[in-house]
Amino acid sequence: MNMPLIDPFARPIDYLRVSVTDRCDFRCVYCMAENMSFLPKAELLTLEELDRMCSTFIGMGVKKLRITGGEPLVRKGIMTFFEGMTRHLHSGALNELTLTTNGSQLRKFAEDLVACGVKRVNVSLDTLDADKFAQITRWGRLAQVLDGIEAAKQAGLHIKINVVALKGFNEDELFSITDWCAAQGHDLTFIEVMPMGDLGNEDRIDQYWPLSDLRARLRERFTVTELDERSGGPARYVRLEETGQKLGFITPLTHNFCESCNRVRLTCTGELYMCLGQEDMADLRAPLRASPDNTALETAIRAAIARKPKGHDFDYSRQKVDGQMTRHMSHTGG
Ligand code: SAM
Repeated sequence: MNMPLIDPFARPIDYLRVSVTDRCDFRCVYCMAENMSFLPKAELLTLEELDRMCSTFIGMGVKKLRITGGEPLVRKGIMTFFEGMTRHLHSGALNELTLTTNGSQLRKFAEDLVACGVKRVNVSLDTLDADKFAQITRWGRLAQVLDGIEAAKQAGLHIKINVVALKGFNEDELFSITDWCAAQGHDLTFIEVMPMGDLGNEDRIDQYWPLSDLRARLRERFTVTELDERSGGPARYVRLEETGQKLGFITPLTHNFCESCNRVRLTCTGELYMCLGQEDMADLRAPLRASPDNTALETAIRAAIARKPKGHDFDYSRQKVDGQMTRHMSHTGG
């Protein structure tokens, strides 16, 4: 193996989040505009290039690979990519291969994913009400997603439900979603909404529901114990003593997790973002395509990691943040 990737703040970079497509079968209002124009195919990394890119990162010490999008499971032929990554699980170079999905295609792919060595999936689901689900995703159908989650469970996948906390939208479902996850055996994480998608519109700006409020509401019904446990990622965890459930909270706006950040994000066009909240990125597609040899690519990766910033600073008060984050997030997959 090459020298492991260590950033200027002595953080080992061992987690790569890869967006394999900018396309999605949903149009969640906080994420995408309804009329998205998608990238021409030639811009995207091919499945072979994605394999080479990820394999290079794994050779440089990446231990955890999370596949995302857009919706990763709508990328044509994506199972070929997952199958390819299985060799790194078998060799022990990779500890975990996982994905974040909207769940719409899980009925079709759950068993194949398990066969590829995937053990856990994150499924994004903001409401258990079919009408509200149609409203927030614009194009999604709740029944299809619930069926996908059921298929994933039957296939043996461990499921974590990711809920974007939206004021006035799913506040009233805090306990019903928590209860449903407990009954189904799913983990649950709440995510603070970031200023992007259509949230910049006047009618949506009020949807920011701080997780501090959400946690206070939980304490009305549960005994909530803070856990020290950290995943190296942005989530903070608590345990609900009454049910034994572990809940996660991701608060991107309060940037309280940068000091332990171990991750970088690759877009479907081969741009590497070193920080969720900053615009600096490195083009890795050019060195990848320039030569079948990986030397230039590895040099570009090291140069990019050397620029990883200490932390990020975006918030609702920043001018132009909406446009910036829309472009950034829809490319990097959240
Ligand atoms: N399509 C997949 C899915 O639905 O999980 C993967 C991509 S999606 C962009 C990844 C995650 O980002 C989802 O959990 C989604 O809810 C979250 N996300 C998108 N826009 C967001 C925003 N403005 N604020 C917070 N989370 C957001």
